[in-house]
Amino acid sequence: MKKYLLTPGPTPIPAEVAESMAKPIIHHRTKQYRDIFQTVNDKLKSAFKTENNVLTFASSGTGAMEASVCNSLSKGDSVIVIRGGKFGERFAEICEAYGVNVLPFDIEWGTRPEAPALEEILKENRKVKAVFTQLCETSTATVYDIKSIAGVVNKTGAILVVDVISGLGSDEFDMDGWGVDIAIGGSQKGLMLPPGLSFCAVSKKAWDMVKKSTLPRYYYDFAKYDKLIEKSDNPFTPAITLVVGLEKALSIITQNGVDNFVAGHRKDASYVRDYIAGLGLSLFSRFPSDAVTAVNVPESVDGAKLIDSLKTNGITFAGGQGHLKGKIFRIAHMGGISREDLQFALGKLKETLEELTSNKQG
Ligand SMILES: *Cc1c(COP(=O)(O)O)cnc(C)c1O
Repeated sequence: MKKYLLTPGPTPIPAEVAESMAKPIIHHRTKQYRDIFQTVNDKLKSAFKTENNVLTFASSGTGAMEASVCNSLSKGDSVIVIRGGKFGERFAEICEAYGVNVLPFDIEWGTRPEAPALEEILKENRKVKAVFTQLCETSTATVYDIKSIAGVVNKTGAILVVDVISGLGSDEFDMDGWGVDIAIGGSQKGLMLPPGLSFCAVSKKAWDMVKKSTLPRYYYDFAKYDKLIEKSDNPFTPAITLVVGLEKALSIITQNGVDNFVAGHRKDASYVRDYIAGLGLSLFSRFPSDAVTAVNVPESVDGAKLIDSLKTNGITFAGGQGHLKGKIFRIAHMGGISREDLQFALGKLKETLEELTSNKQG
């Protein structure tokens, strides 16, 4: 039975990417590897829309989130963390673990932070060193208006750190055009790879803070990676296999331009949203992302049961996280997830909902 992995990470791996990773492993201190890594670094810049170096780490996305904190701040610094879901909360937890003072900007889950409100908080707290947020808050499937947020943060001395782990490649993102200072990526979402790589693109304004930052770091030390990237080299053994796969994945993403890749996901997202509306279901988010859609589980249906019955048909949707467990389910349409996969899965969703509601009545 074909499996339909439609969760917001990990996502399906295209066959040509999987094949490239099945080849015999090569050594990283070789011209062969450096050539691949150089292509990867160039294409990562196009994907992030930046002229800044994009540093690559061997870790899940959370590692790069931590790296953004421990490279840019010092103990006792104050930062604003936008908390509109699970991943906003994670940034606050990381900051607290490092002794950074968190001023939470809490918003209702499923909504987005508004720039004027953030501007007020920044005016009242002029010592804030950084603002942490997401492009797509995956737990609520909500896209934030990073362009407006950046417009406000750029007027201050604070840096803007944006976790684009799930949004990159699906939701519009323009690091340099908008003025984002640190952008954080991960391999297992829109980049169509297995988990295991994470990324930090670092602006000039952020580098000025990195130089003053005194938080402890060793593996995640930005300076170590940046120093070697010009020679397409790494301070430590890179995740060679994943970098080889990344070259293939990025060539798919950039072959017709990143904007076209993003536009394809925008169309898939609106197809999914229209289908959901056609089933009489409602969306959880007020600002739905083009990477993932969160659907409210109807009153008459058991959310856990719905996800379990779809699994018996080979379809995996994600449930809700935190207090949304059982209340929503999430359908990813990022990365290599195809329109055909979505059509099949939504057809089965329709059948399953009909079965679950008729069993209840019967
Ligand atoms: C998946 C995800 C992460 C990182 O999770 P890892 O499990 O560490 O890869 C962080 N932020 C967002 C928005 C995500 O979707």
